[in-house]
Amino acid sequence: MAKMYLVMLGPPGAGKGTQAKEIARQLKLAHISTGDLFRENLKNETELGKLAQSYMNAGELVPDDVTVRMVEDRISRPDCERGAVLDGFPRTPNQAKALDDLLGKLGSSVKLVPYIKVPDEVLVERLSGRWMSPSGRVYHAKYNPPKVKWIDDLDGSQLYQREDDKPETVRHRIEVYNEQTSPLIAYYQEKNLLVEIDGTQGIEKVTDAIMKAVGEV
Ligand code: ADP
Ligand code: AMP
Repeated sequence: MAKMYLVMLGPPGAGKGTQAKEIARQLKLAHISTGDLFRENLKNETELGKLAQSYMNAGELVPDDVTVRMVEDRISRPDCERGAVLDGFPRTPNQAKALDDLLGKLGSSVKLVPYIKVPDEVLVERLSGRWMSPSGRVYHAKYNPPKVKWIDDLDGSQLYQREDDKPETVRHRIEVYNEQTSPLIAYYQEKNLLVEIDGTQGIEKVTDAIMKAVGEV
């Protein structure tokens, strides 16, 4: 069977991670989040983690060559045999071209790009209320609260707020998105792969809209 690669596009806080996890689960695909991979490297104090840290804390992008190499390594692992949902990658036109080359070498290509659209003013509220589990599960204080405050529903671990979810860093990340990542909307539109999803709906409605678009490919 042909492999399926989806690219979740949208500003920070749009709901890419939340949706990518569920879509990957439903379609039995791997979930590749470059943000999660960098955070894992940071936690394990690897060379890559040390390199990424200053960029991440400043809300800047990690350089393309480093990021592409990390994805290349991840995408060739066995759990990607049916394909993957990419979350937070690509983030620049250069990365998008590198992904096309990479998938081309694997005899495949991007199948669909759900673009989760959410207005800027909603993003700050989404990110300032985001509670993360060490496992990577994502909650929201108001919109997706855990059963017990600050505790992961599934494994009981302590939830935390991301260093880069402070309002001032969030505002800079949105600028970086507008400058460096938003050109990908036109890039994928021209390839006829983009499908716009209203990200202001509830979490399950957004999932349904993405699954419907996947079903129509
Ligand atoms: P991204 O990966 O695009 O940065 P996340 O998936 O981490 O975004 O979502 C950001 C925050 O918004 C999280 O706290 C998440 O629980 C919450 N969230 C995600 N989708 C929705 C939604 N449709 N409505 C309300 N809150 C949402
Ligand atoms: P995220 O978890 O997707 O919000 O990403 C958190 C941070 O990791 C970003 O602000 C960047 O510093 C870095 N990062 C994640 N993905 C990429 C990428 N594709 N290219 C460059 N930097 C990235």
